[in-house]
Amino acid sequence: MTTDHDHALSGAYAVDALDADERARFETHLSQCADCRAEVDSLREAAALLGIADEVGPPPALRDDVLAGIERIRPLPPLTREPATVTPLFRRLPTLLAAAAAVVLLLGVGLAVLRPWSDGTEPPPQLSAAEQILRAGDATHVEKAFPDGSQATIVLSRSQGKALIRTKDMAPAPDGKVYELWLQTPAGKMIPAGLMPDESDTTYVLDGDAAEATGVGITVEPDGGSEQPTTQPIAVFPLES
Ligand SMILES: [Zn+2]
Repeated sequence: MTTDHDHALSGAYAVDALDADERARFETHLSQCADCRAEVDSLREAAALLGIADEVGPPPALRDDVLAGIERIRPLPPLTREPATVTPLFRRLPTLLAAAAAVVLLLGVGLAVLRPWSDGTEPPPQLSAAEQILRAGDATHVEKAFPDGSQATIVLSRSQGKALIRTKDMAPAPDGKVYELWLQTPAGKMIPAGLMPDESDTTYVLDGDAAEATGVGITVEPDGGSEQPTTQPIAVFPLES
């Protein structure tokens, strides 16, 4: 059975604001209503553009915004229907309509913020610190393969004074330990350069100035890291000057 109020749930559905019963009911309707499918798709696309919704639903903040929007937007006057068609869902219709309206308003505001360029051109991309190193004209790579098959690569840009490490299939540090990175100075001193993220495949920009560094080391240190290496390095990457 399709009724007008089924159509009205698309906005709330698109941002996952329906309860389980409502969602099940609306999904039945959705399978039979191309209009609603198109509307849900476009709302979700807009929400995804804004990064405020994804496959698993909106973050709590959006739900709060929607609920706050309901209070700002006066509910529509109740529709009149004969009692036979009044369901618990129908009694909530004004609220859900207001929720959908609030979502549309939020999306509109968000899109306006996202697209302030009237000529339609894209803004220049902001390169992350890692991308800036990887794209540097003077970037050099030093790779190392470990006996267990894992790999680590240091990428250095002298002109930017920065280095990063990329790992592949890196085994986790032992319990209670971390991998700490070090930059070696021309005088042979090891300067702490950060703790590697606890991920087997990662890209991490080293702390500190690598412009003059003669090498990068990795040691296993107690959680939280150390001021200076307390173990022999598990890897040393010599950096050519
Ligand atoms: Zn519909």
